[in-house]
Amino acid sequence: MAVKQFKAESKRLLDLMINSIYTHREIFMRELISNASDAIDKLYYRTLSDGDTGLNRDDFCIQIIPDKENRTLTITDNGCGMTKEELENNLGTIAKSGSLNFKKENEQKEDIEIIGQFGVGFYSAFMVSEKVTVISKPYGAEQANRWESSGTTGYTMEPCEKADHGTEIILKIKPNTDDNNYDEYLDSYTIRNLVKKYSDYIRYPIKMDVEKSRLKEGSKDEYETYTENETLNSMVPIWRKNRNEITEDEYNEFYKSKFMDYVNPIKVIHSSTEGTATYNALMFIPAKAPMNFYTRDYEKGLQLYSNGVLIMDRCADLLPDYFSFVRGLVDSQDLSLNISREMLQHDRQLKIIAGRLEKKIKSELETMLENEREKYEEFFKYFGLQLKYGIYQDYGMHKDVLQDLLLFYSSSEKKLVTLKEYISRMKEEQKYIYYASGETTDKVDMLPQTEALKDKGYEILYLTDNVDEFALRMLMKYDDKEFRSVSADDLGLETEEEKKEAAKQVEENKDLLTFMKDSLDGKVKQVILSQKLKTHPVCLSTDGAISIEMEKVLNAMPT
Ligand code: ADP
Ligand code: MG
Repeated sequence: MAVKQFKAESKRLLDLMINSIYTHREIFMRELISNASDAIDKLYYRTLSDGDTGLNRDDFCIQIIPDKENRTLTITDNGCGMTKEELENNLGTIAKSGSLNFKKENEQKEDIEIIGQFGVGFYSAFMVSEKVTVISKPYGAEQANRWESSGTTGYTMEPCEKADHGTEIILKIKPNTDDNNYDEYLDSYTIRNLVKKYSDYIRYPIKMDVEKSRLKEGSKDEYETYTENETLNSMVPIWRKNRNEITEDEYNEFYKSKFMDYVNPIKVIHSSTEGTATYNALMFIPAKAPMNFYTRDYEKGLQLYSNGVLIMDRCADLLPDYFSFVRGLVDSQDLSLNISREMLQHDRQLKIIAGRLEKKIKSELETMLENEREKYEEFFKYFGLQLKYGIYQDYGMHKDVLQDLLLFYSSSEKKLVTLKEYISRMKEEQKYIYYASGETTDKVDMLPQTEALKDKGYEILYLTDNVDEFALRMLMKYDDKEFRSVSADDLGLETEEEKKEAAKQVEENKDLLTFMKDSLDGKVKQVILSQKLKTHPVCLSTDGAISIEMEKVLNAMPT
């Protein structure tokens, strides 16, 4: 039989799995179970939406069969199964995650980070197996196929027999080594614990034959052993459980397995509502931005379930762009299973839910900002940019939602502050909220234009992200106070009398100023006397609505 080669990137991921120093090998179990559950979801969804296939919800199950003698662990499901082409395409390449490329940026990363970013998926089976066999028969088809691989050397494919539709995955467990105990994956006690730990919420029964003992009938002290095909998982989706029944650990494990992250989320948001919209939502704020977060590759959205059945993997309409970093799911009984993507966009119920979720996310962030400042700043480090983009999106429509979530570096506090905090510290006679832009806070701090303001004890916001100034301009005001750039002509510092005095000085020095302007030969529009400076002899400023920094940004933009 011909041995086929894996695609280059798959080979690399596979190699990583096989030789992984990854300490969480055991997660292969949750990956295979989650694939089995997905496959059943697909078939069950078809059953519900295409009318009668003769299948019932109770017919579906996942079986785990450990065989110590042959060192095999088999996981079967009666889901949708795979055709020969699907076996080839789905297992021969890094499925969904394949779109990300393995280029330079990954070169230096730790294994764990790469695995985390790409999602371990099916290949994780190779962390514990020397050979993996997949026998699959699609629902409604006659022919089954066998896919087999012992690792990076490639895989084989041949037609075979299989009685029922679905997929059977047979892992030939690696022999033990001095440092590694693989035997435990054949041990029913360990398997049961792994299922409980990672896959308890799976909504189909995960079954295994378990040896039990009981009193012999009619006897008081004689026991007999018997085998029971026991269901190992509780099958209650975690989001349907009561918050106080769920441990932090459970939330974290659920998040990591479901949304393919390798670190715990920074915030868990679990909410249930009844009334105009009935739903359970479980949302997470990741601790770090995914690698592709600020690229076009990133797809926002929450998983959407209708009464426990997955109907869409990334429902974008549930999240505004500025909260696109939120991962999670919504389960609602108000949505029809048959609803199409196009119809969803116009669904009133969905809009109500989206509105509620937005409010909820916002209030959770506000609470975090108030009570867990350090955590919030960590969050802001990764996702603050997205909030600031949100301010000037849609012509500033979302100002009210976002303005109190923003942080800027403050000249006087030497740390990040909110606009509200700035306002609370403003001097009585201070007219504006001042800001200065530059590459780094240190550089901004040295700008001559900031001197007079600092001298008066006024606080200045230092803007170091390109988007900062755009965001403030979109806001225009906060709490009725206008924003003003330190490079603006009028900083509102002088009294009427001082202004008159200044005008007089200009008049007196007219010839000098004109001479200076002419000497600069068109490089400046005008030379004026400034009241802003203390120790510096000169500074540059702009006359229009645009600051020098903003001009730089605009000039750098592709036209
Ligand atoms: P992911 O689950 O993120 O798509 P995996 O590597 O876990 O990535 O699986 C790759 C693909 O292989 C799946 O998307 C699915 O199409 C297919 N697959 C894996 N296991 C099964 C299974 N038990 N039944 C049907 N299809 C499966
Ligand atoms: Mg998977």
